Amino acid sequence: MKKILVIEDDRVIRENILKLLQAEGFEVTGASNGSQGLSAAMSNLPDVILCDVMMPELDGYGVLVALRSNPATATVPFVFLTGKAERSEVRQGMELGADDYLTKPFSKAELVGAISSRLKKQAALAEQQYNLRSSSELVQDAADKLEQIKTSLCDALEREEFQVYYQPQVNVQSGKIVSAEALVRWLHPEKGLISPAEFIPDAEETGFIVQLGEWVLRTACKQMQVWQNAGFPLQQVAVNLSPRQFHQPDLSSRVAQILAEIGLEASSLELELTESLMVQDADRAIATLQQLKDLGVSISIDDFGTGYSSLSYLTQYPFDTLKIDRCFISNITDGCTNAAIVKAIIEMAHSLCLEVIAEGVETESERDFLWRYECDAMQGYLFSPALPAVDFEQLLMEGK
Ligand code: C2E
Ligand code: MG
Ligand code: MG
Repeated sequence: MKKILVIEDDRVIRENILKLLQAEGFEVTGASNGSQGLSAAMSNLPDVILCDVMMPELDGYGVLVALRSNPATATVPFVFLTGKAERSEVRQGMELGADDYLTKPFSKAELVGAISSRLKKQAALAEQQYNLRSSSELVQDAADKLEQIKTSLCDALEREEFQVYYQPQVNVQSGKIVSAEALVRWLHPEKGLISPAEFIPDAEETGFIVQLGEWVLRTACKQMQVWQNAGFPLQQVAVNLSPRQFHQPDLSSRVAQILAEIGLEASSLELELTESLMVQDADRAIATLQQLKDLGVSISIDDFGTGYSSLSYLTQYPFDTLKIDRCFISNITDGCTNAAIVKAIIEMAHSLCLEVIAEGVETESERDFLWRYECDAMQGYLFSPALPAVDFEQLLMEGK
């Protein structure tokens, strides 16, 4: 029930208003002078205050000023009751912060109308404030959550919970391992092995990917160096590069520094990028790619066919390898739509002097298809999933 406080020194008028409003279902309180009205306002916190202007001692203006200066009552809707429609009286009241005025004598409809329009405005204001508060709380909650995620990722790196696994890339014609893709894993002490699909998006959003990606790059390059020194005929190690990493202004010098520190030939490193990177700011992307190419690093385009529909970019960017996304390879057989797409991609890539790797090869018939259409390399569970370095080395030793 909404509470209305009526401050009016004229007893007849006051009681009339009170009776009227009570009949309309409001909870009413009356005050016969300004000071009484003020203390009733402080103790009751009404939803609307109706207040006469002309009263002995503390008049309506004084009541209004006192209410507005107290935080508890500063926003309570205040309606002046004026004796006559004196413009100066009304203006002064509105300037002091009144919300509305009623000129005596007023009808019941005018009185109830003024009160309900104040109540509606107040409710709308309250809702707006609530929404404002809850949306800023949501923003804060999201920022806090992101900060927590970043801290837990940083801690995991410090505690050496990340590992780099290696998935063989196999020459389709010879069946021999030619390269390896480095894929990061999180070995969580409680949750076990966590897939990068779960934590890479968080790492990207928090910016932690820059740190993590550099660690993966360094680890993979060191491992490649070890395998090359051991005499394994591995041509390249491929490392995934996220959008944040790609947009680092000093990317190529960081890569150059890591290669130099480890003493690995740039030609032994391939960086995998996704198509979506090429869409924004093409000129800058081409310049960055060119810097990497100038170092001697190879570039491959990952998940090809899933991100960007225009093919014109293929001729503008200095790529070396195109990786056909596994969604095109799955259940591929002559005659199906994917077969037409894959055949076309292989042919187009070769005519652009690009190598082609098929991702996600799981069955012998998929491999046979790729062999028939002269795909260069393949990667997938048919040959091996991504493995810890020791297990990958075992595959190399078996000379698979
Ligand atoms: P991606 O680079 O396209 O990696 C290929 C994903 O396909 C890997 O998943 C791999 O384990 C999986 N895969 C390989 N062969 C098969 C197969 O025959 N069948 C199926 N169903 N899947 C296969 P993974 O390791 O979970 O990585 C997922 C994605 O996470 C990667 O996709 C890559 O985008 C990202 N990622 C992984 N490691 C890194 C990293 O070090 N840095 C960055 N920036 N991203 C990474
Ligand atoms: Mg990849
Ligand atoms: Mg891929």
